[in-house]
Amino acid sequence: MSTIIGIDLGTTNSVCAIIERGEPRIIINEEGGRTTPSVVGFSKNGERFVGDIAKRQMHINPEGTVHSIKRFMGRPYEDSTDDLRLVGYPLVKAQSGECGVPIGDRVFTPREIAAMVLQKLKRSAEDFLGETITEAVITVPAYFTDRQRQATRDAGTIAGLDVLRIINEPTAAALAYVHDRKQNSRIAVYDFGGGTFDISIVEVGENIAEVRATRGNNALGGADVDQILVEWLRGLFEKEQQIDVSKERVVLQRLRDAAERAKMELSTSHSTDIHLPFLMADHRGPRHLQATLDRNTFEQMIAPVVDQTIRECALALQDAGVHPNDVDEVVMVGGSSRIPMVQQRVEEAFGRPLNKGFNPDEVVAVGAAIQAGILEGDLKSVTLLDVTNLSLGIEVTGGRFAPLIPKNSTLPAQKTQLVSTVVDNQRTVKIHVLQGEEEKARNNVSLGQFELTGIQPGRAGSPRIRVKFGIDASGMVQVTAHDLRSGVSQSVEIDVPTGMSKFDVERLRDEVADQEQADEGDRELRRLRKGIESRLVSIEALLRDHRGELHKSELSGIEQALKRGRMALLKSSDRSNLTDLGAYLERMESHVRSQLS
Ligand code: AMP
Repeated sequence: MSTIIGIDLGTTNSVCAIIERGEPRIIINEEGGRTTPSVVGFSKNGERFVGDIAKRQMHINPEGTVHSIKRFMGRPYEDSTDDLRLVGYPLVKAQSGECGVPIGDRVFTPREIAAMVLQKLKRSAEDFLGETITEAVITVPAYFTDRQRQATRDAGTIAGLDVLRIINEPTAAALAYVHDRKQNSRIAVYDFGGGTFDISIVEVGENIAEVRATRGNNALGGADVDQILVEWLRGLFEKEQQIDVSKERVVLQRLRDAAERAKMELSTSHSTDIHLPFLMADHRGPRHLQATLDRNTFEQMIAPVVDQTIRECALALQDAGVHPNDVDEVVMVGGSSRIPMVQQRVEEAFGRPLNKGFNPDEVVAVGAAIQAGILEGDLKSVTLLDVTNLSLGIEVTGGRFAPLIPKNSTLPAQKTQLVSTVVDNQRTVKIHVLQGEEEKARNNVSLGQFELTGIQPGRAGSPRIRVKFGIDASGMVQVTAHDLRSGVSQSVEIDVPTGMSKFDVERLRDEVADQEQADEGDRELRRLRKGIESRLVSIEALLRDHRGELHKSELSGIEQALKRGRMALLKSSDRSNLTDLGAYLERMESHVRSQLS
């Protein structure tokens, strides 16, 4: 059985981990990093880069660098317009109804972009472990709706990964805690990342993690803090130089980079200098931006964002029916939890020092790997009692929302509803499924509609159809219907307003697999060339050091082989030719060594 990997697919960074001999281990990527920026870059000639290289090209090619795609996963374009200002690349409405990133003559959906990040993590894990990886556990924010979870699973499928389980990020952090501490505690997991915020109250024991309540905001994170600083810098520049840069993509990207750097610096220093030479030029010549920001001013600016997270903490405690004093430990997760003001406010809210024993960047991936280890049977099972964070319900007369499975219900959850007809001989009934807490159906997130068909003709109200709504352990919705009169059961496909059909997802997966195969050919060619190059260098070194000890006829044979090798490196891209040459040079080197010994 091949290894199941655990993935924290983050808004800003992603991390991949595995269980090795019973302990979690972070996968090191091809660049030697433990975290991989969730950034995909496209060059003008169609080349694609993922991770650090893509992040590095962000400020020179903002339009071709896609970041923070997680904010748009599984959301209709119309609902995402607020977030569009936070990214420096253009977004259009894709055919699927979501946001799409236009690159060349193609529009990439968030699923495809996320799949590129997942593919990179998968490949790193394969290189690291020397085996093919096909299965994964992926984490998502607790507040992800069914659509967003589905989009994440699709991204995995496109990347060639069978996503065995989707778990909530704070729940994953709690699993890491259980694995590490094995003690009874009530913990709060405060997770403030690049694009999302969650707070969860979890009861943990030796083999159990029970989520009591979770709250959060899917569109609140470090990027919002950066945006406040970008606005401040933009205003400053406009005031000093009378130049409006609000439409200058490259300038805005530079401001965003500088804002994030300043923010991070203020986590350790009390003041930071921002210096952006040649930000713009006008008839007076180049215009620069120079500013100093101290921690106090920064804290005043970001207080509304931090306040929002603290308010959510109080509400989560209320939902769990727990007093702050009853929380034993507060585990901090996510890069933005490093902001000193955040730590201070959370400490005040819970009235205790924070647990800093876990790496906030890695703890979620570690939890995902632990879940993977449990599924593999390598780790002792932990009973995970997670909850649904949004109520699931249907639209009823008057456009109202009738919740069926209330929020904070333990997963998996189920609810049966009897449905009937309203007119005589009605053959179909349409049901609109939603998630949310609002009274008016249209103010909640629509998961789509489904139609019960083949109802036996009869008087209005006489058919009795039992519709079973379920939310599985991955937080995903399933619907089945059973006609009590005819005894016929049907599984129900929800017709989603946005998203992709199974067929489209599979088509993309095959496309990626074909591309992978082509890339694999290139990678093999590079590996062969690298092998020949190092063999040539090694034989050249032997010749240099031991020329005098070798026979003349031997020498000319070696020199000829070296020449042939160099020529082949320059000209040949024939794999079998290079494989033969590599083997020939290997034999030659060992022959020369045997002559010398
Ligand atoms: P995550 O989604 O957990 O990877 O968190 C990424 C977010 O954390 C980004 O918005 C980063 O700018 C932010 N971040 C990372 N390190 C720091 C730091 N030292 N101080 C403040 N924010 C940070």
